Amino acid sequence: MAAAKLTKKEQDDLRARLLEEQQELREQLASIEEDSFAATQSEMIGDVGLDDEIADAGTITFEREKDLSIEQNVRDLLGKIDRALRRMEDGSYGVCSACGKPIEKARLKALPYADLCIKDAQARARR
Ligand SMILES: [Zn+2]
Repeated sequence: MAAAKLTKKEQDDLRARLLEEQQELREQLASIEEDSFAATQSEMIGDVGLDDEIADAGTITFEREKDLSIEQNVRDLLGKIDRALRRMEDGSYGVCSACGKPIEKARLKALPYADLCIKDAQARARR
């Protein structure tokens, strides 16, 4: 399968970037999980006045929902990075998963975990 036209050096660079990003995202995920744990703990103490309590409960819920959506995004990205790394292993990296043509190098350099060419990514976004 010679469709991926990246040189070995280019793919190695992209792999290094993916691994670096994967590391950062894992750390981010760990700190989000720590934060939600801390929020649960402080919520359980509950020795605040009634007005404060209501305000705090609102804030805590908001913060938690924000955390959850960030967490979702981080997990999503980690999944994409995982798939990209696996595709490097089996030699299908850099090939569009929709049309089977090579993904533009510039696109891979901007988005190393991309698994669609520009045309198919745009088509999918429009749907
Ligand atoms: Zn395509």
